[in-house]
Amino acid sequence: MTRFDYKTLPWNIIFGTGALARLPEELDKLGLSHALVLATPNQSEQGQEVVSLLGHRAVGLFDQAVMHVPIETVEQAMAEVARVKADCTVSIGGGSTTGLGKALALKLDLPNIAIPTTYAGSEMTNIWGITENERKVTGRDNRVLPTLTLYDPELTLGLPAKFAGPSGLNAMAQAVVNVASGDDNPMVSLMAVEAVRVLARSLPRVIAEPQNMEARAEASYGACLAGGSLGTGTTSLHHRLCHTFGGSFNTPHAETHTILLPHCVAYNALATAGGTQRLAEAMGVDNAAIGIYELAKTVGAPTALKDIGIRESDLDKAAAIATEMPVNNPEPVTTKRVRALLENAFHGSLPQPIA
Ligand code: NAD
Repeated sequence: MTRFDYKTLPWNIIFGTGALARLPEELDKLGLSHALVLATPNQSEQGQEVVSLLGHRAVGLFDQAVMHVPIETVEQAMAEVARVKADCTVSIGGGSTTGLGKALALKLDLPNIAIPTTYAGSEMTNIWGITENERKVTGRDNRVLPTLTLYDPELTLGLPAKFAGPSGLNAMAQAVVNVASGDDNPMVSLMAVEAVRVLARSLPRVIAEPQNMEARAEASYGACLAGGSLGTGTTSLHHRLCHTFGGSFNTPHAETHTILLPHCVAYNALATAGGTQRLAEAMGVDNAAIGIYELAKTVGAPTALKDIGIRESDLDKAAAIATEMPVNNPEPVTTKRVRALLENAFHGSLPQPIA
């Protein structure tokens, strides 16, 4: 008999090519009139364009968002919010910029609008993360869910292949852990399976034909679904490992997801046989873990921890940090088994179950 608990999130989504033009009227509808636009230094120009588009509704641009939301950046941005008397933030960028908007929402109860330009999926979740003293602390709080998420796939056209591939696999991870989770929530996995199907099909096309709008739009749609499944679903060992490497070793977020995902799927394959099979079917492959590993190669993403700055001598510390607190995961988690998983991920070996 099917049994499940399900609570949805109050998403407010506008999706479509050219949707950015609707931002000013949507801000008016929300009764917001003093927007602080957030961006990374890389996307300062795009941030400035949003400031221009908003006209009198914008009170400034804070273009210092960085990966993993360091507390120092949050504090600088909080000071800027106070200085310009902002009544909301508008994040244009990837998960780092969305994450800064979320951190400000958490600290200041400030509405945040997300305009994603990668496939991070953060804009669909109520999960925040802030890095302090080399540890990334994360939590769920509905106050951080964007008041509005505006997807305009045209904004992803400039995302270079070296970011697009790992970013898409980061989205896929959010869906994958909610298909092969052991919890098998049918409402969540409905969205998650579709996300996997759409992403597996679109990502190779995004890399092969970067200006193909149909493929770009499909990948953004996949990210929206994947983020939605993470927002209403669960996380497991995979996310614990990614946060360990991101928070304690400062590895790039999407690449870390890409490398670890196939190994975590293989780790859980016995405990989640049904879900893992659904994953494989959605991807059109025989073995889900190997299918994800091959997809990473196809999109030119890294497949080995040693290629993103991790040394073999870091693995013991990483395994210890990742397992110092209990972790929700279908297969039992021990420091020894995690260390074995990391050994495979370090070398970029074919993913395999860990005894
Ligand atoms: P990112 O936001 O750091 O972006 C990577 C780089 O690409 C940045 O320099 C950015 O400015 C640039 N960029 C983004 N879009 C571009 C475009 N269209 N054209 C040109 N350059 C562009 O990377 P990310 O992978 O999107 O996000 C990673 C962060 O998101 C991490 O901190 C991670 O923890 C967080 N995240 C959070 C959640 C959540 O639910 N809370 C989910 C996923 C990711």
